[in-house]
Amino acid sequence: MSEKVSIKKTKMESLSELDRKHYLHPTTPAKMHFEQGPSIIVSEGKGINIKDVKGDEYIDAMSMLWNVNLGHGQKELADAAQEQMMKLAYSSSFFGNSHETAIQLAEKLASLTPDDLNVVFYTSGGSESNDTAFKLSRYYWQIKGQPERTKIIGLERAYHGVTMGATSATGVREFQNFVNAKAPDFFHAKAHQTNCELGDKSDPNYEGCIRDIVEKEGPDTIAAVILEPVQGAGGVLFPPEGYMQAVRKLCDEFGILMITDEVITGFGRTGKMFGVNNWDVVPDMMTVAKGITSGYSQLGAVIMKEKIRDEIVKTDDVLFHGFTYSGHPTACAVALKNLEILERDNLVVNAKNMEKVLKDGMAFLEEKHSIVTKTRALGLLGAFELYEDPASGKPFDPSIAAAHKVVDECFKRKLILRTAEWDGDNIVAIAPALIVNKQEIENIISILDESITAFEMTL
Ligand code: PMP
Repeated sequence: MSEKVSIKKTKMESLSELDRKHYLHPTTPAKMHFEQGPSIIVSEGKGINIKDVKGDEYIDAMSMLWNVNLGHGQKELADAAQEQMMKLAYSSSFFGNSHETAIQLAEKLASLTPDDLNVVFYTSGGSESNDTAFKLSRYYWQIKGQPERTKIIGLERAYHGVTMGATSATGVREFQNFVNAKAPDFFHAKAHQTNCELGDKSDPNYEGCIRDIVEKEGPDTIAAVILEPVQGAGGVLFPPEGYMQAVRKLCDEFGILMITDEVITGFGRTGKMFGVNNWDVVPDMMTVAKGITSGYSQLGAVIMKEKIRDEIVKTDDVLFHGFTYSGHPTACAVALKNLEILERDNLVVNAKNMEKVLKDGMAFLEEKHSIVTKTRALGLLGAFELYEDPASGKPFDPSIAAAHKVVDECFKRKLILRTAEWDGDNIVAIAPALIVNKQEIENIISILDESITAFEMTL
């Protein structure tokens, strides 16, 4: 009898076994995962909390992948999906087909975006949106009689996704090096270096800047520049004041299209509806995903200026680009409800108000722990860094994996955060759902405080 009990597997154990056997995970250390199985098997969520199959509760302080912006368990979004599925679960948007929900959402997006970013092309996610923006940029120039404008300039440390074009634009080297995925005609400038744009050629990073690449390659060969208003996966890196405007000016000077990747920063994450609103910059195309549905359904979009559509409709040719799920009715219905709640519940304003609580919390951590530095937040997009000695700028030895260890300590204490450990940096990102309140942020900070202390004791 007792033997029978001991061989009976828990739900966690049997799911873990099946996971290892049948499930290859994205962006995961494959060997470790295969040997150890998943660290958590999530079964449900409510607000900023999730529960695993063992019944343990965790705080999801990353909104999963910076996307569950309305938090978990929003019944209204489930109801919107159900209603749409019962009415019309799927309809194509190829060959001239359209449907009500996709049209309504396109109008809504046009009303939220600045200036005449009024035309929407739907995708199923961020990578597809960026690939679409690259192809539409080239197409735009082709129709305008400048087919030699094919090159795309991105930034180092940028993350734009994993499809071939998106990977090629991504500046986090680990993604590019993976199967050597970089396509021709993609270039990378140093991330967020203003000085060259503003004319200071003595800046040591001048060589890497966007203007250099434009001038070296020839302005007439550049289709577009793409950048995140705030670099997310690259380490929550904010552009210095004036940078976004300088890039806009540079693009205007050479007639280059400016694409902003708002996959993380879109829909309130930075305390404004879109990241670019923080700098009053209007791109020619904006790519979105994640927060458009708060992750309740898979949807992305490219939102472009009317001038791009106006060129495209000059030709009689078929627009040979599109996804089966472009404008998926259920996803669009969820997005519409998601945006309605975002506005109705003033969540963009909440994100701005909570920025101060998050900043104060991180300032407390910086004050208390000598290894914590470079704390920053814009809306609910925050991060801090770990250095062995911040005063002298001495980093931790990479073998220590400091950010990773701190995030592990948080996980032990049922708090989910995430690291960015590129180029020797030890960055810990924090991005709770936009519904988060003061007490919840203070709780996150308090667990972080304990976790950093635990890490310090290991040094
Ligand atoms: N762009 C940015 C800025 C992102 O953060 C991501 C995803 N983290 C993507 C693009 C890719 O989106 P997806 O994973 O939906 O393809």
